[in-house]
Amino acid sequence: MPHNGLGCACVKDALVRKMFVNWKKKSEAVCEYIKKGKSGRIEFVLLPAMIFRFPVFKMFKVLFKIVRIMNSKGIDSLSFAADDTCNGCRICEKICPVNNIQISGSKPIWSDHCAGCFACFHWCSKRSISLGGYDFNIRNYHHPEVIISDILNGVPS
Ligand code: SF4
Ligand code: SF4
Repeated sequence: MPHNGLGCACVKDALVRKMFVNWKKKSEAVCEYIKKGKSGRIEFVLLPAMIFRFPVFKMFKVLFKIVRIMNSKGIDSLSFAADDTCNGCRICEKICPVNNIQISGSKPIWSDHCAGCFACFHWCSKRSISLGGYDFNIRNYHHPEVIISDILNGVPS
């Protein structure tokens, strides 16, 4: 499902819209299946079919770059960082489900207990956050029907 992230920017809006339409149909089919009291496998999708439906091959480029940097510079070199476009709005601090971010001065500082949800990255309205300042061509994304207050109201402050 298109949840809190889509991977690289190669996933276009048209594909995302198509996925939502398909999954809506599928969820309706699942409901019908359950209502009829059926059990067992509803659908079987072969791995190659999944790969061709989604531009997985294009994502390998991103993955390889991450692995190469991790290998040569260490995992810490990929820590979250905010660049000069950050306006200190505190969204990242508020949205982090594990209170791993504090604003110091007017910039976020990440602590060491990140849960890896990528909410800070995806919800930053200024797109200021990166992994160690590297550009991995990762697209900022969230579910189109979810607004920030939905998340903030569900997150203990
Ligand atoms: S959400 Fe983005 S702009 Fe706002 S404080 Fe965090 S990094 Fe800066
Ligand atoms: S990725 Fe998630 S858990 Fe980690 S710092 Fe960002 S919001 Fe917090």
